[in-house]
Amino acid sequence: MNPCLEISDPDVFALLHREAQRQQDSIELIASANFTSRAVLEATGSILTNKVVEGYPGRRYFSGCEYVDALENLAIERAKELFGATYANLEPYTGSQANHAVYLTVLKPGDRILGMDLGHGGHLSHGAKFTMTGKIYDCHFYKVDPETERLDYDQILAQAKDIRPKLIIAGASSYPRMIDFQRFREIADEVGAYLLADIAHICGLIAAGLHPSPVPYAHFVTTSTQKTLRGPRSGMILMGEHSAAEFARKIDSAVFPGVQGAVHVHAIAAKAVMLKEAMSESFAAYQRQNLENSQILAEDLIARGFRLVSGGTDNHLMLLDLSQQGITGKEAEDRLASVKITVNKNLLPYDSQKPTVCSGIRVGTSAITTRGFGSEEMHRIADLIDTMLSDEPTVNTIAKVQAEVSQLCRLHPHIDSIYEQNGDRFTLESQYQLQN
Ligand SMILES: *Cc1c(COP(=O)(O)O)cnc(C)c1O
Repeated sequence: MNPCLEISDPDVFALLHREAQRQQDSIELIASANFTSRAVLEATGSILTNKVVEGYPGRRYFSGCEYVDALENLAIERAKELFGATYANLEPYTGSQANHAVYLTVLKPGDRILGMDLGHGGHLSHGAKFTMTGKIYDCHFYKVDPETERLDYDQILAQAKDIRPKLIIAGASSYPRMIDFQRFREIADEVGAYLLADIAHICGLIAAGLHPSPVPYAHFVTTSTQKTLRGPRSGMILMGEHSAAEFARKIDSAVFPGVQGAVHVHAIAAKAVMLKEAMSESFAAYQRQNLENSQILAEDLIARGFRLVSGGTDNHLMLLDLSQQGITGKEAEDRLASVKITVNKNLLPYDSQKPTVCSGIRVGTSAITTRGFGSEEMHRIADLIDTMLSDEPTVNTIAKVQAEVSQLCRLHPHIDSIYEQNGDRFTLESQYQLQN
């Protein structure tokens, strides 16, 4: 096959090449990041981009859909099997779109939502006031307990009784502890609200049986597919038996034509591949390693004098409070970026800094675990973070850390340990002829 992009558009090709090199050369600790398999990439970049499709399998608005119908049905069946769901919708373009579709299904403009505060771990799409959700609905927020920095379910119940929301959202982008979805459902039932479980971050852990599933409890379950689930940048909606009968058709039409247009069939194919991978024993092993890496990194950082929000982690991410180190989240993000360690500054519960500064950073292990980093590398990364953040690093220190980052990245040149097991040596280097 012709290397079409390189010849037809050298500018775009050059930027892709540089981005590939950047991915190769940096230690990715952004908690929502991951690396897909070659198979997922192939499906994403496939000829399915050429197919126009609207509606659902067997109920399309264009002809020529026999193969894409089969594909979407395959993805739906796999999703139902993997998550023990009765209903799955694979069409949402992203996790945010999946949430919008649920809102459109059960809410009218002005109706009340109770979700997790953005500064306490919630997500923008749960009703931040400058978003579409925040402008259309009347959004209220629960916070974590100021002492334990964990969800206080009695407090959430009291607030729900006060606010009387029509929808409660359980789920977070930066909450390092388990979420009790059963308890959330009890709260929702007490106040007559629907429960939406947004599992964008922990979906892969749930698929591997390492975090309790909300499917038996929540009326609706939404997720992104590119985070711990290691699929394409896309979304999904699931329902258990108890709500599928009532809401299947309603969710279908809320997704299309409610909030979206024609189907991204290439993403559906990639999600089908992702779901097959997620059913494998090697995916479960990956998630166990992810949790183990996260534990080790958290313990090491605590031993080096860092304070972790809530004192540790139960999942793939942790929040570092940098006030004891005397630096802001922004400064920490910049210092680590200078040695090619990528993290994001993050508001901490009851943070006194602005969202553009923040008192902490969020650190996650999903991407580096995919890359094959294990316990030994976690100890080294904890050292590197400590070296960069505990004191103002000198030029010498920075050079030393840079050398070590580059050595770690060479040690795990890519990404694709799952495919190596299948004898498939595809790497970013082979696609873009990277320098090692
Ligand atoms: C990432 C995330 C989403 C959706 O993000 P998209 O970028 O739209 O896929 C939704 N909810 C939570 C809790 C998230 O962390």
